[in-house]
Amino acid sequence: MSFTLAIVGRPNVGKSTLFNRLVGKKLALVDDQPGVTRDLREGEARLGDLRFTVIDTAGLEDATDDSLQGRMRRLTERAVDMADVCLFMIDARAGVTPTDMIFAEILRKKSAHVILAANKGEGAAADAGVIEAYSLGLGEPIRLSAEHGEGMNDLFVQLLPVEEKFKKLAEETAPETDVELDEDADEGAVPKPTNEKPLQIAVVGRPNAGKSTLINKIIGEDRLLTGPEAGITRDAISLRTTWNDTPMRIFDTAGMRKKAKVQDKVEKLSVSDGLRAVKFAEVVVVLLDAAIPFEQQDLRIADLAEREGRAVVVAVNKWDVEDAKQEKLRDLKEAFGRLLPQLRGAPLITVSAKTGRGLERLHDAILRAYDVWNRRVTTAQLNRWLTGMLEQHPPPAPQGKRIKLRYMTQAKSRPPGFVVMCSHPDKMPDSYSRYLVNGLREDFDMPGTPIRLHMRGQG
Ligand code: GDP
Ligand code: GDP
Repeated sequence: MSFTLAIVGRPNVGKSTLFNRLVGKKLALVDDQPGVTRDLREGEARLGDLRFTVIDTAGLEDATDDSLQGRMRRLTERAVDMADVCLFMIDARAGVTPTDMIFAEILRKKSAHVILAANKGEGAAADAGVIEAYSLGLGEPIRLSAEHGEGMNDLFVQLLPVEEKFKKLAEETAPETDVELDEDADEGAVPKPTNEKPLQIAVVGRPNAGKSTLINKIIGEDRLLTGPEAGITRDAISLRTTWNDTPMRIFDTAGMRKKAKVQDKVEKLSVSDGLRAVKFAEVVVVLLDAAIPFEQQDLRIADLAEREGRAVVVAVNKWDVEDAKQEKLRDLKEAFGRLLPQLRGAPLITVSAKTGRGLERLHDAILRAYDVWNRRVTTAQLNRWLTGMLEQHPPPAPQGKRIKLRYMTQAKSRPPGFVVMCSHPDKMPDSYSRYLVNGLREDFDMPGTPIRLHMRGQG
């Protein structure tokens, strides 16, 4: 048993596309399911290791124009009644329409929990619509591309607390359960998990870098003996834990699987597993082996984490066996700057997963990286800042026409994304964008996090 998510919104915003993506191959079974009306489709969804029921209000497409409003309202209300949580979808390319506002009104009145999604979010054409979505008064929108599968991690993160709440409810209402995990835990040693949303981290790196050893150390040996959480599948292996009072969910790659004795496949699977873990993480810990740091595979996964917009912390493991620590650290920092310039300012922490040295600092670096990744700068601050930047170093004038930068706003966080309204956005040289990005990093203290900057023309 799990929670139910209803996807609602006006026709053509992409509800069915998301439904199909969540339900996947099982779709064929869905239509035959007894009890499912023609208007509401129901399916079993999976997202990472979450399993839930999803309802799609797809029947609306057949509605004729004059009957649309009434039908839409009834259908939406029915879906809302059936669901634990609603995903309200708008089309970011179209922006907020009057019909969207009617929906928002219904949802504000009827639904206890609404997740706002701005779909068709791929590309700069969606920037303005994503910003507009805030005006619906339903909180921060998730930028989605149902068609391309972008933003699924953000959706996952927003669904986690729903699942937690639901699980708790299920436990409370079921007097006798077989769940022993909590009773088994050593009462003294394991801090009580709080209700806060766990921070999602992934530990990635080459085979033998020490990923399992590190995770063991973090969660405590005896907890590991109980194995990964129930319901863990081949797709996503995650463990809930509390590390120094911080609730965390750790996505493991090859490590856990090795313990699960599928040893022969470990080498082959580790890269694609790493990619999957990166997608679900908020902070990615790239674990290097001090003896062979920055190998091709390490660079690839670190670059991927940056491109996926994750906060990155680099941890150099097996530091206990290094002799010339000072020299080595200098070399590592130099190599880091040279080989991964896109991660400028990201923390580099030396650790020993074996002895536990440096883990405290790793923990703190993760929290700081997460904080930066979530940072929001107000529009007023940004524009004051932009004026100063323009004075200090005016934008170029290709073919004698100066590019005008008019206005700037932060469109999103996680990672921070900014939009600059300007003339001739296509003529803006990369060097000037870099000047602005580096300035943002410095002046708003955002080291290490990927920063996205979009130039947009007016109108
Ligand atoms: P529904 O009526 O809300 O269920 O919308 P559909 O899922 O049928 O999608 C409507 C149209 O939008 C289809 O042509 C989809 O291919 C397209 N679409 C859905 N999601 C996306 C997206 O993320 N990006 C873009 N560009 N198009 C999308
Ligand atoms: P994984 O493949 O990344 O999960 O790596 P493992 O955790 O299985 O570790 C690979 C090997 O490195 C094992 O023999 C570990 O004992 C060893 N190892 C892991 N961490 C450390 C460390 O901090 N110091 C030393 N000296 N050895 C370590």
